[in-house]
Amino acid sequence: MKNYDLIIIGAGPAGLTAALYAARYRINLLVIGKIPGGLINEASKVCNFPSYEDISGFELSRKMIEQIKKLDVNIKNEEILEIKKKEKGFELTSNKEKYFAKKIIFATGSERKKLGIEKEKEFVGKGISYCATCDAGFYKNKIAGVVGGSDAALTAALLLADFAKKVYIIYRKDKFFRGDKIWIEEVEKSNKITPLFNSVITKLIGKEKLKAVEINKEKNLELDGLFIEVGSLPNIELAKEIGVKTEKKQIIVDNSQKTNIKGFFAAGDVTNNPLKQMITACGEGAVAANSVYRELIKEK
Ligand SMILES: Cc1cc2nc3c(=O)[nH]c(=O)nc-3n(C[C@H](O)[C@H](O)[C@H](O)COP(=O)(O)OP(=O)(O)OC[C@H]3O[C@@H](n4cnc5c(N)ncnc54)[C@H](O)[C@@H]3O)c2cc1C
Repeated sequence: MKNYDLIIIGAGPAGLTAALYAARYRINLLVIGKIPGGLINEASKVCNFPSYEDISGFELSRKMIEQIKKLDVNIKNEEILEIKKKEKGFELTSNKEKYFAKKIIFATGSERKKLGIEKEKEFVGKGISYCATCDAGFYKNKIAGVVGGSDAALTAALLLADFAKKVYIIYRKDKFFRGDKIWIEEVEKSNKITPLFNSVITKLIGKEKLKAVEINKEKNLELDGLFIEVGSLPNIELAKEIGVKTEKKQIIVDNSQKTNIKGFFAAGDVTNNPLKQMITACGEGAVAANSVYRELIKEK
């Protein structure tokens, strides 16, 4: 079994930034990530990461990977299947090997819930987005739709209304009851936003890109973009199995990114930080690496 002081699970912005800092602290570390670069690979354009006015998510993640590879960080494209808590650290089982680490930074991110209908995957970046914070600016004077009825959907619609000429909220229930009152009131006040209740998207229409959606198998609604805000699922199961505390399906961390389990840190979209963005994921990754470094020094 291979031994490390630190294993970072996840090769998205949080895990890669943790690796950047940990490598510079000269920590004996390994990064294990299923998808190199993580979720940001799905962003057609990133315009809110400092120092890049406009860059594709894929290019940005390649730059992050190149930067840490220059520091000789080993990144394994494997999936962790099991974590076991041991007296002096953690035993990890991937789909290929077993590892031991004194400390873990858990940065497995989250997965956006999908609508699960035909052409959804094909239209990502071509009219379909899962991130209004990132992509709303591309819909200036256009028509946009938002699917969902939670705070995420309401705030996405409000943000879009700053750019788009018309925003539809497409929601399967007969009223908003999951969102905060303040957001519901703001939505009701907006003369650009029209909620369509009792509405389920039954088809995505378009050839190269999304042009319209079919609602309730009855009528078509023309749109330039559709924002799917039906929630996300943080990848917390492996952590929960060893007793890591969670709330609302997110890992509870303190301001050093510590969890309730000694030696087990978490960073990025998987934590209970409400802003799920690259900048926060990177920040949390850096803090987690610093906390690991301080703990390792103390234990020496
Ligand atoms: C379409 C889209 C556009 C976006 N645009 C922007 C934008 O413009 N600006 C912005 O700031 N944010 C944007 N975001 C959000 C941003 O992508 C996330 O906030 C960020 O990627 C979170 O980073 P993370 O490292 O916490 O998680 P992730 O990026 O999700 O990375 C998680 C990593 O963990 C790995 N992993 C998961 N489970 C396991 C396992 N069991 N074993 C091994 N590895 C595992 C994954 O493969 C991946 O490598 C966008 C998101 C989407 C979907």
